[in-house]
Amino acid sequence: MEQHENVYDLIGVGIGPFNLGLAALLDEVEDVESLFFEQNTKFDWHPGMLIEGTKMQVPFIADLVTMADPTNKYSFLNYISKNDRMYQFYFLQRLDIPRREYNDYCQWVSRQLDSCQFGTRVTGIRPVRDNEQYYEVTVMDVETEEVKEYRAKNLVMGTGSKPVMPKSFQGFPEDEVLHTADFLANQDKCRNAGSVTVVGSGQSAAETFRELMKEQRDGEFRLDWITRSASFESMEESKLSLEHFSPDYVNYFYQLPQARKDEIFATQGLYYKGISNHTVNDIYNLLYEYSVAREELNVGLQVLSEVRDLRKKADGRYEVECYHWQKHETFVHETDMVIAATGYKPHVPDFVHDLSDFLEWDEHGRYKVTADYRLKKQEEKAGEIYVHSGISHTHGVGSTNLGLSVHRNKVIINHLAGREVYPMSEKTIFQSFDA
Ligand SMILES: Cc1cc2nc3c(=O)[nH]c(=O)nc-3n(C[C@H](O)[C@H](O)[C@H](O)COP(=O)(O)OP(=O)(O)OC[C@H]3O[C@@H](n4cnc5c(N)ncnc54)[C@H](O)[C@@H]3O)c2cc1C
Repeated sequence: MEQHENVYDLIGVGIGPFNLGLAALLDEVEDVESLFFEQNTKFDWHPGMLIEGTKMQVPFIADLVTMADPTNKYSFLNYISKNDRMYQFYFLQRLDIPRREYNDYCQWVSRQLDSCQFGTRVTGIRPVRDNEQYYEVTVMDVETEEVKEYRAKNLVMGTGSKPVMPKSFQGFPEDEVLHTADFLANQDKCRNAGSVTVVGSGQSAAETFRELMKEQRDGEFRLDWITRSASFESMEESKLSLEHFSPDYVNYFYQLPQARKDEIFATQGLYYKGISNHTVNDIYNLLYEYSVAREELNVGLQVLSEVRDLRKKADGRYEVECYHWQKHETFVHETDMVIAATGYKPHVPDFVHDLSDFLEWDEHGRYKVTADYRLKKQEEKAGEIYVHSGISHTHGVGSTNLGLSVHRNKVIINHLAGREVYPMSEKTIFQSFDA
């Protein structure tokens, strides 16, 4: 197997917004040599959910670099300027840019960074202890299947999350029973189906339902929305609540005992799992408009109902078995297509679990993480493995929030460089969480 000569200071696994931001900030740091690998052939941010009209849930200021250095050439405003759209953006007067534009901006940045290699999947990492301490990283070219070994003093895991598909939804044709992550690829099929059912009640469910409602204007197909929740709950978006997505709250949360963190995190769903108010309003407005001069809408919204099973019938339709958990009643709903808006879970690759003797784990099988985003190791001397993904048990509700990605990258860069490349702010919000 071919081995690359260099020993890099840092190798990154995965190029989503978190590692892309790190690569962009490191581009300015001359004494750190880094390389990032992404299995997809280009940067693409949740392509199945880049629905027209969807927008970012963070202001554009939370781009890849601005919160660290507004003069950085990879800022969103520089992207706008280089694309000669400054006046249009100025007249747009919006902080919440379209999701498709954020993706285009990230692609623009990724194309300029030599440290980002696409079409390359990391299949293994191995700590090596000979005269030097380093990690051996096995990388496969996804097109040619050629495998190469790279060496790095430190690693950073930015492997993001994976769609969660409940067991009872698995094993059916993927264009009939699909996750919202694959929605756009199957939108045509939805248009032509006799009936479509969306299951779940987070932001992705609401966006999918809204998009299908727009297409269902004349009621050509039946559209249903089913959720186990007691209501279609709105996300908590007040300005003081948003301060939970601040470095101050992360620091406060981090120092709590683990059992307390687990309890608190379990109560914070509405900070990140609910539906944005503007999306709920859009849906309600559409329902209201469609109800004008019409006896019945070909639309159903069902709360309090947990989907327990899914069966394909001989005629090709599906029976969705639901359980109304307040009335303790089971009922069956029929549909041609099911879209599971059943969320995502952290993607921790198997090769990280293979390091079970090298890393420290808690009693729930989760890795332990230091305050500055390093996996805790049995052997202190070995190089660091920084981590972006799978850290909500240690760093809380803001772990996947893009508004905190630059802050985290500043912490990682300062630790990696062994000096304060980017100054850290002491107090970032108005309220106090600590006593
Ligand atoms: C539809 C949607 C919209 C969202 N909108 C917002 C928002 O507006 N604001 C906000 O704050 N948060 C948002 N989030 C949450 C969060 O910010 C995103 O999920 C974000 O993409 C996380 O970035 P990431 O870099 O951690 O991981 P990801 O974007 O998931 O990227 C991880 C990458 O790692 C690659 N990878 C994995 N394993 C390997 C391997 N072994 N080798 C090579 N590559 C690998 C994957 O292919 C992937 O490209 C949204 C989430 C979703 C699902």
